[in-house]
Amino acid sequence: MMIRIYERDAYVFEFEGTVTSVDDDWVSLNATAFYPGGGGQVSDRGTICGLDVTDVKAVDDVIMHCVPGHGMKVGDDVWCSVDWDKRYDLMMGHTAEHLLFGALKKEVPDIGIVKISISPENKYVIVDRDVGWAEIKRAQESVNRAINDNLCVVKSTMGRDDPDMDGIRARMERIDDDLVTVVEIGDADVAACSGIHVRETGEIGALIVDRKVSAGKDGYAIHFRIGIDAVSRSMDLANTCLQMIEIFGTKPEDAVKAAYNIKQDNDAKTVQLRCALSHAIDELVPEVVNGIDVYGSIFSINDRAVLTDAAERIKNSGSVAVLVSGTDVLSVIVSSGVREVDCSAVLKDAMTAAGGRGGGKKDFAQGGVPDASKADAVFNGIMSSVRASLKHQN
Ligand SMILES: [Zn+2]
Repeated sequence: MMIRIYERDAYVFEFEGTVTSVDDDWVSLNATAFYPGGGGQVSDRGTICGLDVTDVKAVDDVIMHCVPGHGMKVGDDVWCSVDWDKRYDLMMGHTAEHLLFGALKKEVPDIGIVKISISPENKYVIVDRDVGWAEIKRAQESVNRAINDNLCVVKSTMGRDDPDMDGIRARMERIDDDLVTVVEIGDADVAACSGIHVRETGEIGALIVDRKVSAGKDGYAIHFRIGIDAVSRSMDLANTCLQMIEIFGTKPEDAVKAAYNIKQDNDAKTVQLRCALSHAIDELVPEVVNGIDVYGSIFSINDRAVLTDAAERIKNSGSVAVLVSGTDVLSVIVSSGVREVDCSAVLKDAMTAAGGRGGGKKDFAQGGVPDASKADAVFNGIMSSVRASLKHQN
């Protein structure tokens, strides 16, 4: 029976083992401190006999270590070393995740956990609903209080049918054994977990939630950082906020309201500009070339959705549209409801001449030019090509 050293003592990172099986690059030992990963936490790295362990995995009850290029044989005694900096970061991150989710659940009792990811680069939980920043702030304060109180992290086992299991956070559908490992962190959190944890919460140092992003149908990913990483990230974010506060010219406590007001104003202006652009497009008088209406103009307002809709509408009515817009960079759309005008070819010629890029199909093409001063040249070039195409029709 292989001994999983990390289950007895998560702080052992150097140990001697005996090789029990060899399968190509993969080696198993009679005992190992290498954690094979689980519960979203990535597996350990390190060395065996000074050779890099590039992967660790559990196959049934056996933990296999990938050691490319090894020459080990069954029965060899080998000296092993787990990459402790990485492992300790993962242990801290994993324990912090217990605290964070436990605290979020106190704020939002119906919240469910969808996925956990604990790696050196990224630490996050995906939860099944959006959580407000006010709730996140209170949860974060609660976690940092627990860290400051240096609570003991205590592991015990309970029968899966024990009535006391009712009060414990657990995903019983993922637990096969009759005995469940329960991790209790002072009075802050209690959850079923067979992962590896730190002994005391003070080891985590600090925690900050620094990002919340949509995870599509899964919900929202709440990213966090721990230790000195959390402290430096907090200082970076605070500095960014202070710069914005200076731009807004408000007190810190009024900054969110100021940003909200600016966004409201901006949204209202966007709607006004959109209406003005739609109106300008509606007012366009077509140039009739060989019986075909060609709608074209240069606009100072660039709204891709409005311009694309207009181009589609004009195309569907059997006409041609040449819409150039923008003040910093130029956006160009060409659409055609007649086979004589190949939008892709017409656009390509204009883009080549103006140093822009773009592409599309025969009936619809779009591109961009980095130099807005070329608006007239681009527009006139495309209009000339369109006229030439239509005049040559049979
Ligand atoms: Zn755990």
